[in-house]
Amino acid sequence: MTTRLLIVGPQGSGKGTQGVRVAEAYGIPVVSTGDIFRANIKGGTELGLKVKAITDAGNLVPDDVTGEIVSDRLSQSDAVDAGFLLDGYPRNAAQVAYLDDFLASQGASLDAVILLEVPRAESVARITERATIEGRSDDTEAAIAHRLDIYETETAPIAETYARRGVLDRIDGVGSLDQITERIFAALDARGIVR
Ligand code: AMP
Repeated sequence: MTTRLLIVGPQGSGKGTQGVRVAEAYGIPVVSTGDIFRANIKGGTELGLKVKAITDAGNLVPDDVTGEIVSDRLSQSDAVDAGFLLDGYPRNAAQVAYLDDFLASQGASLDAVILLEVPRAESVARITERATIEGRSDDTEAAIAHRLDIYETETAPIAETYARRGVLDRIDGVGSLDQITERIFAALDARGIVR
């Protein structure tokens, strides 16, 4: 049983938290490009040094850099055997095309794309709260607004691509953590994707 999922949503939609819960339930690893970049920045690696200024400003890391990271990670045996839950990738049309090609080379494709829908004001409030708790260096007010703008112009449109393919599940991202997890499970259950 291989389950390949993607969770998409604006920053502050709770996709990181929900992604972990869903991945755990399906026994698949979370592949979060944001987490990979943060770990590299923290560890002072060559990649970390290369992307720190970009992520701090709320800009997107170049597609070739990000694509290589994702294809390396998805080529590892746990992801090949069990599948994965992607969080934060793909984020634009070029990345969708890259992922399509990569998965096609394995004879695979995404089983479902979960879109967490949260109004912009709610996203801003949640990220601002997280900024005080976690102290992420890219959670300044200007960077938050910039990241949400990029989400709206570059990332939100990819949902339409997946909707046309019939794999998109739109989930109301406002509610308690448990309510939202249950909504996601219900949508995946309806697709016959078993836990
Ligand atoms: P996230 O935790 O997903 O919000 O990612 C944090 C930051 O990492 C983003 O603001 C980008 O600078 C960078 N990043 C993460 N995923 C991607 C991606 N798919 N493409 C480009 N940059 C990314």
